[in-house]
Amino acid sequence: MNEPEIQIKNVSMVYPVNNGEDIVALSDVNFDIQEGEFISLLGPSGCGKTTLLRIIADLLQPTAGSVAIRGQSPRDIRRQHKYGIVFQSPVLYDWRTVRRNICMPMEIIGIPKKERTARINRMLDLVGLQDFGSKYPFELSGGMQQRVGIARALALDPEFLLMDEPFSALDEFTREKLNEDLLSIWSKTKKTVIFVTHNIPESVFLSDRVVVLSPHPGRISAIVDVNLPRPRQNSIRETSEFYEYVTKIRRSFEGV
Ligand code: ADP
Ligand code: MG
Repeated sequence: MNEPEIQIKNVSMVYPVNNGEDIVALSDVNFDIQEGEFISLLGPSGCGKTTLLRIIADLLQPTAGSVAIRGQSPRDIRRQHKYGIVFQSPVLYDWRTVRRNICMPMEIIGIPKKERTARINRMLDLVGLQDFGSKYPFELSGGMQQRVGIARALALDPEFLLMDEPFSALDEFTREKLNEDLLSIWSKTKKTVIFVTHNIPESVFLSDRVVVLSPHPGRISAIVDVNLPRPRQNSIRETSEFYEYVTKIRRSFEGV
């Protein structure tokens, strides 16, 4: 196996709280991620998924341990604009059209207008919103808004796509469609994806590996390789192999 792209070593995170009882959000988390891998961080609310994602993204400093990305720090990677981040709520600007929302990060780092326009067109194609570039966010469904969030995150052509429960506010049908489309985007763009979810079937459907976290304190309770064939379509959810993975992961939570 190649040298891992991301190495997470002995990462712990303690949030100081006023009453003196600190919250241990993560305790001694260790795992590696390979280049181009699709990884899910799975676990119930409060197990430290967002905390871990924010540490990888350099939005938070761990109290102990380290993250190395190709031998560099998360700060170096962030300064090179190599992270694309998608949050649960897409935080779009209501007064900007879809095109101008996708444009935001490119404006901020000063990409010339002609190049911006070309990239916006590519991004709209990639997420299937070719006909919606001149709409405003309030004219779009929740699923389409989240597609805009993905397009914006990919506009600077990052190498890492970090996603924090991006589809959890969507209905089941929309979520499954976006799951399928996300895999197609991933296969076209070859990013390394770290995807946070509390939904077991979603993690199985998407991932090469599922990192299962348990709460209080947040620890890795299992890492499950998902050897389902790719490309994956939603029909794979009806297979016994899929069901076996879901069951295996569900059982790893029992006794937590
Ligand atoms: P998840 O994303 O899995 O729901 P989080 O990473 O958000 O989990 O939170 C993990 C634990 O850390 C929870 O107990 C949460 O209440 C606590 N926590 C998260 N952020 C803070 C903060 N800024 N200050 C204090 N406690 C926090
Ligand atoms: Mg969270």
